[in-house]
Amino acid sequence: MNQRTINQIISVTGIGLHSGEPVNLEFHPQPVNTGIVFERSDIVGSTPIPASGFLVQDTMMSSNLVFGGTRVGTVEHLLSAIAGLGVDNLLVRVSAAEIPIMDGSAAPFVNLLLQAGLCEQDSAKKFLKIIRPVRVKVDDKWAELRPYDGFELNFEIDFDHPAFNKDLQHAQLCFSTENFIEQLSAARTFGFLTDIEALRRNNLALGGSMDNAIVIDEAKILNVEGLRFADEFVRHKILDALGDLYLIGYPLLGRFNAYKSGHALNNLLVREILSDPNNFEVVTFDDNVTCPIEYLPALPLAIEG
Ligand SMILES: [Zn+2]
Repeated sequence: MNQRTINQIISVTGIGLHSGEPVNLEFHPQPVNTGIVFERSDIVGSTPIPASGFLVQDTMMSSNLVFGGTRVGTVEHLLSAIAGLGVDNLLVRVSAAEIPIMDGSAAPFVNLLLQAGLCEQDSAKKFLKIIRPVRVKVDDKWAELRPYDGFELNFEIDFDHPAFNKDLQHAQLCFSTENFIEQLSAARTFGFLTDIEALRRNNLALGGSMDNAIVIDEAKILNVEGLRFADEFVRHKILDALGDLYLIGYPLLGRFNAYKSGHALNNLLVREILSDPNNFEVVTFDDNVTCPIEYLPALPLAIEG
């Protein structure tokens, strides 16, 4: 099982959730062992920002990377798409301080990356294998990773609100690219109308609308099209977690369980795991058959090293 990048440069324009302004996004292929790197195209000579959990600052509403005074915000849905497709090496150039929100899910990023084409590289793909359980907890919320031969994500939310069906607040993803695309990638972010109005008063969420979020008032979902999945809320929380966990620097082999977790707690778990080398080992697989994770096929070696 080898590392992957994309086959060619591709770009898209979307709206910044907070600014409400157009944001240009470009994906560039990268050599082996580069990892995922962000760069601000609107700042001349800006410092590239590696996708590292140690650079996450301010997890109020999204996961934001800050390095050398440069910031790239709302990286989690894009990172979820990158993790979902098993892309190891990629440069993301963005023309503003935030990744565009698109439709509030990871699906537009998945489509764009697939359009660019996945490309296999000439070096073994590295996985971070969890070898002992690690759990973090804040108040009644918790998140953990446990040893498991594969990658599985279990998530439970607990909203006491008429828009949230009590029986649909738990979901599970047995990770493969196919399962990710079909079951998770299209699940949208959600927000409460009262919170959005408060953010607007502070000049935030200016780009937020029912085009890029499920909006809920005191009683119901306001989007006329309704939900994409009956349990779309909890699916989106798994989508977020997948993106947040990719900041560990490698695809994971383990079982993720979480109760009411969010960006802050997901990041705490990443830092906790990386803080002790006894928690994990970095492993490779000689071929795709022995690898416990299934990705979509990639084009062989179109780009050298
Ligand atoms: Zn999200």
